[in-house]
Amino acid sequence: MGRLNIYLNRLEHNLNFIKSISQDEDGLIAVVKANAYGHGILEISKKLVSLGISRLSVASVSEGILLRKNGVNCNIMVFYPDPFEFHDLVNYSLEPVIYSKEVFNRFIKLLLSKMKSEYSLHIKFNTGLNRLGFKYKDIDWIIQNIQNSPVKILSVYSHLAASEDEKNNLNTKKQIKIFDKIQKKFYAYNSEIKYHLLNSSGIFNYPENQYDWVRAGISLYGYSNNPIWDKNLLPIAELITKIIQIHEIKKGESVGYNNGWSAKKQSRIAIIPLGHADGIGRYLKDKNVSVLVNKKKAPIIGNICMDIFMIDVTDINCKEFDEVTIFGKENPANVFAESAGTISYEILSSLSNRIKRIYFS
Ligand SMILES: *Cc1c(COP(=O)(O)O)cnc(C)c1O
Repeated sequence: MGRLNIYLNRLEHNLNFIKSISQDEDGLIAVVKANAYGHGILEISKKLVSLGISRLSVASVSEGILLRKNGVNCNIMVFYPDPFEFHDLVNYSLEPVIYSKEVFNRFIKLLLSKMKSEYSLHIKFNTGLNRLGFKYKDIDWIIQNIQNSPVKILSVYSHLAASEDEKNNLNTKKQIKIFDKIQKKFYAYNSEIKYHLLNSSGIFNYPENQYDWVRAGISLYGYSNNPIWDKNLLPIAELITKIIQIHEIKKGESVGYNNGWSAKKQSRIAIIPLGHADGIGRYLKDKNVSVLVNKKKAPIIGNICMDIFMIDVTDINCKEFDEVTIFGKENPANVFAESAGTISYEILSSLSNRIKRIYFS
């Protein structure tokens, strides 16, 4: 039992800020994968399109299909398409990211079988993250194989491994250098291709390496991975719930499964109706993570259960059915996450669909 209040005017604020530091306002790819980082892919995408965004990106074909079935008609790029879903991808006019020879060949075969031509796609390079991507040495192969094949390269991109780190990160410099070389080589083949390297932190830390497009995800939702940039952004969501019961606990009594916490003194604990099935993970145990009750910090105690967790409210003036803020304006998700040893991305994107999303414009 909880609700995620989502303020769409804050999404607009964040978008405007990102645009204000972008070289090309029209070069913004809005990343709405993972249910728009937990915020609701349909509502967020529709709002972004209404604000002038013309290119969205998702992780999977199914996320793209969901958008299409709900009337989202802009360009949709699929970062990690399953080759076994290429048929659907093409039927719904989604743009795949192609990251290996094997995937390229499979895609061409599918296009030929469907008699398609000039199908738009994106090419991804591995410049040092060592996740997905072609290598620099594959360029000749790609250019050779693209001739006489029914595709059109819309963009060529790569992804930084440590865009949130300080500027003079050596590995980042290396990645930028390789990407420059990739760009030069493709440019000689086709001058219309677009290039992009930066995610949110990259946009903030490496403004001089924006190339043509940038890919903004977490910053749209109000986080930048850096307290300085955070000041310009507004977390768009607040996770709210309420106390459903309060217990007085004697010194020495334990709370929750496996005696996860025991009272060192006479205590008051409150029961909160959210659990690991909602995305409030068991890793929160013993991390001294707090939620807000009547503006005071109440630490999470014991093991998180599937539907419930407990907090210590001994020193807080509160009663049953008082509101509890798990994260929000006063206690942003990144602070909540970092005290638990994770990042805002994980907390937000793992909020389950049991949590009602409520939108405010
Ligand atoms: C998720 C993702 C992004 C967005 O990153 P943020 O840090 O959320 O801005 C950009 N590019 C790729 C390839 C991604 O997978």
